Amino acid sequence: MRFADIIGNAEVAKALVSMADSGRVAHAMLMYENEGCGALALALAYVQYLNCSNPHDGDSCGECPSCRQMAKLIHPDVHYVFPVNKGPKTSDDKPTSESYINYWRELAVSNPYFTEADLQKAIGIESKNGLIAVAEAKSIISKLSLTAVSDGYKAVVFYLPERMNQETANRLLKMVEEPPEKTLFIFITHAPEKVLQTIFSRCQSIRVMPLTKEEAEEVRMLRPADDREEYDRFMEIFTDLMNAVLARDLMAALECGEMIAALESREKQKAFCNFAGGCIRKIFMIQQNMHQIAGVAEEEQEFYSSVAGRCGKGFCARSVSNIDKVVSMIDRNVNSKILFCDLVNRMFLSV
Ligand SMILES: [Zn+2]
Repeated sequence: MRFADIIGNAEVAKALVSMADSGRVAHAMLMYENEGCGALALALAYVQYLNCSNPHDGDSCGECPSCRQMAKLIHPDVHYVFPVNKGPKTSDDKPTSESYINYWRELAVSNPYFTEADLQKAIGIESKNGLIAVAEAKSIISKLSLTAVSDGYKAVVFYLPERMNQETANRLLKMVEEPPEKTLFIFITHAPEKVLQTIFSRCQSIRVMPLTKEEAEEVRMLRPADDREEYDRFMEIFTDLMNAVLARDLMAALECGEMIAALESREKQKAFCNFAGGCIRKIFMIQQNMHQIAGVAEEEQEFYSSVAGRCGKGFCARSVSNIDKVVSMIDRNVNSKILFCDLVNRMFLSV
């Protein structure tokens, strides 16, 4: 990935290039984005630039052996960590990212703007939550203790540190604090408030900005057509739901609950929950006067601003926590009609 291929976020790209050029390379960096805004693409372009043997005009060359390895995500000194779980695509009893690395490569090479749901689908764990467990920390520590194959930087691109438990974080902490020479950690998060403080506080944080309407459209074009249809469908249900809740129309709200419960699979219901959680996060940011980082597409501005103005203060926090609970109940096979009617009712009561 070259910086030239990144959609949007020119300022962030410039800042990364200037960090690399001036030699002020932070050994631990946390990139915070709304899902799908290109943090992974930026991280890949950054590592590629740092390790390129012929960088010029503020970008990697794209042709040297290191760039070619980066393009296929097979650079021997660059490691990837992402949330996993047991599943049909690996026989490992305690799977780590390594167990699924080929699927990760295939997904990220074809579209580095993928979502967490895309990743779960690609590695075949749609019905489970991905986790970053302690086996992962052990694997990373042993990889980083090996001598670098090339003379560039060793890097760990760490996707979704919020999926890591305390034990894993404790194991990694020393490495993140005092990494071996020319080693860097790049964490990519969609929920910085859920990243363990011990890790967060040791990172230089970078806000990856939301995309403009045109840029978001460009990213959407990278996706298969049925995914784009899904976005529109989810947005329609969420809009109807919020309108019903705010209009104090319980019947209409319950109908939305039934529509969510009628989505064709538990995976789709979970995908809707993730989607709705993302929407509510946007509402929360607007309520905090953080419009510029809320990541709202232009055509959705009016809806979000109106909703943000009409919801009470605690609504967003309560809803996100209720949605999180629903996701874990879906995993436990609880009847989805009951689950979603209850969720909608709670939203109705807390707005
Ligand atoms: Zn190069």
